[in-house]
Amino acid sequence: MQQTKKIALITGANKGIGVEVARQLGELGIIVLVGARDLARRDEAVKRLREESIEAVGVPLDVTRQDTINAAASYIDTTYGKLDILVNNAGISLPAGRALPSELDIATFRAIYETNVFGVFAVTKAMLPLLRLSEAGRIVNMSSNMGSLGLFSDPESFFAKMPPLLAYNSSKTALNGITVAFANELRNTAIKVNSVSPGYCATDLNDHQGFSTPQEGAKIAVRFATLAADGPTSGFFEDKGIVPW
Ligand code: NAP
Repeated sequence: MQQTKKIALITGANKGIGVEVARQLGELGIIVLVGARDLARRDEAVKRLREESIEAVGVPLDVTRQDTINAAASYIDTTYGKLDILVNNAGISLPAGRALPSELDIATFRAIYETNVFGVFAVTKAMLPLLRLSEAGRIVNMSSNMGSLGLFSDPESFFAKMPPLLAYNSSKTALNGITVAFANELRNTAIKVNSVSPGYCATDLNDHQGFSTPQEGAKIAVRFATLAADGPTSGFFEDKGIVPW
C-alpha cells in the first residue's frame, strides 16, 4: 500500500548539511529516511530528530556499496511503495585531495569520484523506479560552487584563488553533468532534477572553516526538494539564484 505522506531519502544524513536537510524536510511533515553508513552516528541523528517530533527512520546506506543501495531501495519499496524526494548529499573531500593537480595521487582522485560521482549515479539509478511512482518526484544533487567551470575559469574570481582541489571540484562538475543528463531523460515526467550549492558551510568536510551554518546551507536543498510543478529542472542554483555551469 502506498504511503500518502511524502517520503524523502537523504544520503549522508547523519551529520553536517545532510542532517539539517532531514530536519527541515521533517519539519514540513515529510517522512525522512536518514541514509547513512555509520550506524552509531545514524542512530544518534535519528534519535535527535525524533526528539524534535520529526518522523525519521534510519536507513543503512553506503553510496559506494551497491548491496546497501539495493537493500535501501528494496526497503523503501516494501515499506512505502514510492519515493518522493531524493537528496544526493553524501560527499567527501580527502586531505590528500588538496595536492596540486600535477601532484595529485590517482587513487585519491578515484576515491573521491567513487563517492561524489559514481555513488550519486548508483543511488539515483536504483531509486528512480520508486521516484517514478511519486506524483512529484524531486532529485536534488548537492553540488558546489567549486564545481562551476564558469567561476573557476575566471582568474579574478574568489574560486580561482582557492586551493586547487582538482578531484573534489571536478567531481562536482561531473555531478552537474549527471543532473543535466537525468533531467533531460526525465523531462516529460513529473520528476525534476537540479543541482544546488549550499554555500561555504562550517562542517567536518572543511574542518569547520565555512562562513555559513549547515542550517543555512540546507535551505536551498529543501527549496528544490519541495519545488512546485511549475519549477525548473536541469538547473544549478544557490540561495542568490542561478550558478554558472
Ligand atoms: P560532512 O559533515 O563531512 O558530511 C558528509 C556526509 O556524507 C556524512 O554524513 C558522511 O557520512 C557522508 N558520506 C560520506 N561518504 C559516504 C558514503 N560512501 N556513503 C554514505 N554516506 C557518506 O560534510 P557536509 O559539508 O555536510 O557535506 C554535505 C554535502 O555538501 C557534500 O556533498 C559536500 O560536497 C557538499 N558541500 C558542502 C559544502 C560546505 O561548505 N560544507 C559546500 C558545497 C557543497 P559518515 O559520517 O559515514 O562519514
